[in-house]
Amino acid sequence: MNKSDSERIAGILSHFDYVETDVEKEADLLIVNTCSIRQLSADKAYSLLGVWGKWKKTRPELKIAICGCVAQQDKEKVRQRAPYVDLVFGTHNIYELPELIKRIENDEKVCAITNTPVVCDQNDFKIIRKESVNAWIPIIEGCNNFCTYCVVPFTRGRERSRRPEEIITEAKNIVKEGFKEITLLGQNVDSYGKDFKDENITLANLLRKLNKIEGEFRIRFVTSYPSDITDDLIDAVEECDKVCKYFHIPMQSGNSHILEEMNRHYTKAKYYEIVSKIRNRFPDVAITSDFIAGFPGETEEEFQDTLDAIDELELDYSNTAAYSPRVFTKAGKMVDKFLTEEVKYERLNRLNEKNREVCLKSNEKFIGKTLKVLVESKTVKDGKITLNGRADNNKIVHFEDTTKKIGDFVNVKINKAQTWCLYGEPVV
Ligand code: SF4
Repeated sequence: MNKSDSERIAGILSHFDYVETDVEKEADLLIVNTCSIRQLSADKAYSLLGVWGKWKKTRPELKIAICGCVAQQDKEKVRQRAPYVDLVFGTHNIYELPELIKRIENDEKVCAITNTPVVCDQNDFKIIRKESVNAWIPIIEGCNNFCTYCVVPFTRGRERSRRPEEIITEAKNIVKEGFKEITLLGQNVDSYGKDFKDENITLANLLRKLNKIEGEFRIRFVTSYPSDITDDLIDAVEECDKVCKYFHIPMQSGNSHILEEMNRHYTKAKYYEIVSKIRNRFPDVAITSDFIAGFPGETEEEFQDTLDAIDELELDYSNTAAYSPRVFTKAGKMVDKFLTEEVKYERLNRLNEKNREVCLKSNEKFIGKTLKVLVESKTVKDGKITLNGRADNNKIVHFEDTTKKIGDFVNVKINKAQTWCLYGEPVV
C-alpha cells in the first residue's frame, strides 16, 4: 500500500514539474513515506529524517516532508523530534498535496493530518508506476477489524472503498499502458464494497467486471481476512480466467485462544475449513499467510499450535514477525503479559525454520508440472540469460531463454525446486 501511495505522490508532484532524482543529496524536496506496523520501521524513518536535517543545515532551501502512518500517528509530535521538517501529511491527505506543496514552497511549516480523506477521482492525477509489469490499484483503504496488536485502524482509519467505475477506468488505463498484472490492494480486500448501499458491489463482482477488460493480463488481490472470504469470491476466482489462483490469508496464530486475544474473528477450525475449501477447488493454488511470534501471554504450547498449523495446512509461504507493541492498541497495553525479547526471537527463529521447511516441500510439489510464468526481469551472467518471473500462484520461477522478453507469458516445465524459488525450461 505504501509503495502504491508513493507512486501516486510522485504522480501528483509531476503535475507541479517535480521529477524524481536518483541523487538524493541534490533533491529540492525529500519525502519519506512511512510505515508504523513495527517499531523498527518507525525508527528507521526518524533516523532518515536526522540525516536529511543535517543536509538542510548547509542547504536551507531544501524542503523535507514526512507522510504515511508514522506521520498520521505522531502528527505535530514529529517536529518535536525533527523540527526542521517542513511538511507532515497523513494517510488521508495525499490528494491535498497540490495545495500543501504551494504552502511549503512559500516557506510555511505545514502539518496536514485529518481523520477523513480528501475525496477526489484519483484518475485526475498521473501515477508514476515503478514495477515493470505489475501495477497496483488500491480498492479499499482502512480497516474496521481492530485486531488488538494492529495500529492500522488508527493510522489508515475505517474502511473506505473506491467506486467500481473509478477502479475499472484505472485498470483499463493500466492495460493500455502495457502492464501485464494488476494487483488489487486493501488492508482487507474482502470487505470491498461493504460501505456502499448497493449489495452488488463486492470483491467477487469487481473481479468479474475487471476480467472482462480485453487484453492479455492477470489480476491478483491482497490481503484477505480469513472469515470474510465468501463462497461467491471463490466462485469468481474460478470463473475468471485472468484472476490468479493465489490467496494471501493471514492466520497470525494457530491457537484459538490467542486468536481470541488478538480479536481475530475466527477459530483455528474455521481457518482450516477455509483453506480446505480453497484447496479442494484449485489443485495448484498457493496459500500464503502471516504469523506473529510471541504475542503477549502466548505459552509454549500455544506457540507449538502455530508450528503445527503451518505443517498441517501445508502453507506455501508465510511472512513472520516477532510481536512489536504499538501505541493505541489493546495488546500494547498488556504490559504484564509481554514476553521477553529472548523468548520472542527464539520463537521467531523456530517459525522461520518451519517456514523454510514447508516452502521447500510446497515447491517440490511442482516438479514435473508446467506453470504459466509472467517474465518480470532478466539476469545476464557469464553470457547466460536467465529470465525471472512469477507463476499464476505467485511462485518465483527462473528459466533460461534467449527469445522471450520481460512482459511475456511463458509456459515453463519445472525441473528443480529450492526453498524460495523454482527452476524450469520453457515448453510450447
Ligand atoms: S485485519 Fe489486518 S489491518 Fe485490520 S486490524 Fe487486523 S491486522 Fe490490522
